[in-house]
Parts: sequence; C-alpha cells; structure tokens
Amino acid sequence: MLKIHNTLTGIKEEFKPLDQNNVHMFVCGPTVFNYIHAGNARTFVFFDVVGRYLEFKGFELNYVQNITDIDDKIITRAHTEGKKTEEISLKYKTAFIEDMGVLKVTAVNNYALASEHIAEIIAQIKGLIEKGYAYIAPAIKATGADAVSAEGNNDVYFELSRYNKDFPNQYGTLSGQNLEELKESTRVEMEANKLNPHDFVLWKAQNYSYEPTNESPWGLGRPGWHIEDTAISEKYLGQQYDIHGGGQDLMFPHHEAEIAQQQALSGKVPFVKYWMHGGFLTTKSDKMSKSLGNFTTLRDLVARFSNHPAETIRLYFLSAHYRSPLAFDETLVNQASIAIDRIADFLARLSKASGEENPALDEILKLRADKFTASMDDDFNAPAGIASVFELIRALNPLITKNALSAGQAESIKTFFQTTVERILGIVPEPKEQSIPPEILELVEQREQHRTDQDWSKADSIRARIESSGYRIDDTPYGPLISTK
Ligand code: AMP
Repeated sequence: MLKIHNTLTGIKEEFKPLDQNNVHMFVCGPTVFNYIHAGNARTFVFFDVVGRYLEFKGFELNYVQNITDIDDKIITRAHTEGKKTEEISLKYKTAFIEDMGVLKVTAVNNYALASEHIAEIIAQIKGLIEKGYAYIAPAIKATGADAVSAEGNNDVYFELSRYNKDFPNQYGTLSGQNLEELKESTRVEMEANKLNPHDFVLWKAQNYSYEPTNESPWGLGRPGWHIEDTAISEKYLGQQYDIHGGGQDLMFPHHEAEIAQQQALSGKVPFVKYWMHGGFLTTKSDKMSKSLGNFTTLRDLVARFSNHPAETIRLYFLSAHYRSPLAFDETLVNQASIAIDRIADFLARLSKASGEENPALDEILKLRADKFTASMDDDFNAPAGIASVFELIRALNPLITKNALSAGQAESIKTFFQTTVERILGIVPEPKEQSIPPEILELVEQREQHRTDQDWSKADSIRARIESSGYRIDDTPYGPLISTK
C-alpha cells in the first residue's frame, strides 16, 4: 500500500486516486530566464521518480508540468540584454527540455507553456470576477523612458477577504500559517491600487513598451504567476485532481494562491487531494537559487562526469529523503559517481556467471526486492530503497566471485535491475567492468564482516591492506565503496 506524506494534513496517508486507477498530477516547472540549476533539477528528478513509481504500481498517469515563460524575471533579463522576451524564454525552454532528456526524466506527459494558455487564463480570471472573487483596478501610471500610457489598461486582483468569508480556514492551511499572522506580515508589498496587501495579481497591465502583452477584456497586459498554473491544470487535469508537487519554497504564497483561485472558481474543496513538497538543495546554509546567485547550473554539473552523468546525478539527489535538505557537496557527488561505477561493475561481472543454480538466490533476491518496494511505498523513501539495492550487490558479489550463480540466475538479477531499479529510479548504468581485482573485493567483504562483528582492529588492518595495494575505501550510505587511489 502506497503512503504519501500530504503537506495539507501533515501526515502520511494511504494513496487513493479520485478516479479509480487514473492519477492526475501537476508539478510546478521552471521559470525560463536561465539554465536550470542543480536545485531545480533535484525537484524535477524526485517527481520523475514519483511518476515512474506510480506507473510501476499500475496506475495510469497523466503528469503535467507547466513552464513559466511569461514572468518579470524574463522581461528584466531580455530588457537588460536588449533582446525580445520570446528569444530568452525560447532559448531556456529549449535548454530545459534538453536537460530533462539528459537526466532521463521520462514521466512527464505534457510540458505546458503559460504563453500557449492565455485564453484559458483569461477565462479563469473572468470567472473569478463574475463570482465576485476578483476586482479590476485601473493600472498605476508608470514613469520613465519606456513607460506607456496606462489609459484603458487595468490590473486584476484576487480579493482574499471575500474568499476567506466563503471558504473559512482554507487560506494558510497548506503552509501552516494563520490569517492574523499573515495580515501583520510586513513583507508583502502594497501596490497603490490594491484593496488589501494580501490580494494577489491575476492580470498585470502593461507598464513599459518592452513588456510582452496580450489583449484581454482589461486592456493590454500579461497574466500573474499563480493563475497560469490553475488555468493549465484545469484544462488537462480537471477542477480537482490527485497530486500537486513542487519545492518547499512554493508552498506560500504560490500554492496557497492556487488553492484559493481554483476553489473559489469551482466551489469544490479540496482542489488537490495530496500536496507534496521537496526539500532544498542547499549551499552552506542557503537554498540554492538563481536570485541569490549561489547556484551551479545542471549543465555545469553534468559536464563534470564523463561517465554516467545522468545516473550519478540522479543517485546523488535520491540519496537523501526528498523532504530533507541535501547539501551540494563535492564529496557526496563523487561518492554517487563511485557507487554508479560499482553498479556498472557488478552488472558486467554478472554477465560472466556460468555456475550451477544456486538454491539460495531466490531468497536473497526476494528479501531485497521486497525491501525496495516497501521503502518506495513508504512515501517514496528512495534512500532506503537504494540501500537495499546495494545490500543486494554486496550479498551477490561473493557469489559472482565464486562462480556460484547460473547464467539464468544472472539474467533474472539483471531483469530485476532493469524492470524495477532502472524503471523506477533511473540509476542503472551500462555494464562496465572496473579494474578492481576480485581479491580486493574479497578483502572488502571480509572487512564488512569484521565491522558487523564489531571487531574494529581486524577491520582496520584489512583497510590498511586494501590501501597499501593502491585502492581506497569509503564508507558511504551505499555501503563501502572501493576505487583506485
Ligand atoms: P523556479 O524556476 O525557481 O520557479 O523553480 C522551479 C522548481 O524548482 C520549483 O518546483 C522550485 O520549488 C524548485 N526549486 C527551486 N530552488 C530549489 C532548490 N534549491 N532545491 C530544490 N528545489 C528547488
């Protein structure tokens, strides 16, 4: 039974889709004003695994991800570089799709661009105005070189106080904030034409000539960020659906705003049954972010690996629980790279199996395969699942060394790696033998046995033997990893 930690309720709940076997899922995609950074990629890889696992469990998945290609950050970048906004957004949208291919992100069915859903966005805003949840405010006249006349152009805002009256105890629930605290918050900027500080923009009037514009019933302008997502999700997933995901930074105000918009429009509660939020990739104490300037692009990270970049980066991201922060740390990335080499080596050596049928294999394999799926069923606990994969490799390595597996058994082990581990996690590389001699692997196993027996001095003396032979051994979350010095 699959359980998901639901941000909305704060507990792990059994996963039951609204519509029998069909799962509708939406994840907030990137704002395309730059190459995605490693932190964005962590979130996208994790939700790819969610999608892959749901399909593995036999669900029919409809997974939509939006691409924010209309946004102030894109406009600012284009203006600074003297380019058209479409040029910037097309360049980075194309790069993003390429990046997802490089990372083996396969679960998304539909990447939906905000710019291609203006009609749906306008229809949602109209609906909110008609129902009394949104108001039109004449645009504030801009000043400066490229300012346009505000004549005939209007902003449209969502009226939070009206929503709160009709939907009490909804706004703030997801992010665990109470309304009074929100009201006192001074962080919200107050545009002069808003009724209340927490009202958020649905349609933004054009202020400057270089801003991209669309015709609307409220004059020339562009959509606000939150309405892009509900317009897209309603079109492809319906007014209510199963899973909405994103990084923790999006919980407030973005996801609270989405809930308010869609619930106000449809009158149906809850908008989304399971909300999932991924932890940050962090540098020192900060969240990696484009606006803080402390980021490494995914492309830079990929370029560091000549061998198996996708598998290495995916394993590194998945080595921490998705709700925990993960440090962007060279050592951890290198460990993941060695661990992937270990899988490649294991698979290559497995191909040589030519021994007798081993009666113990079924039990060895079943134990770890069951642990793997039980971990994934427990709120997508990939680190625990990965630990059972490496446990399996450790249990099988001595059997391969002794040629104590048949060729047919080797095939069934490979099938498990392909149809379960690769299909769900995408971390299985092409087989490739490493130059680690069997006698060194044997020493590693002996050291493990001493460590299990807590015989530290014997374990240490074996480590010294391994190191004096020109190898290095690292104890990692994947178990002991051996590499050449
Ligand atoms: P953005 O382009 O900033 O809107 O982000 C796209 C996705 O990446 C969103 O789901 C964010 O929550 C997520 N994200 C942004 N920064 C990080 C980070 N440092 N670690 C993990 N996820 C992040």
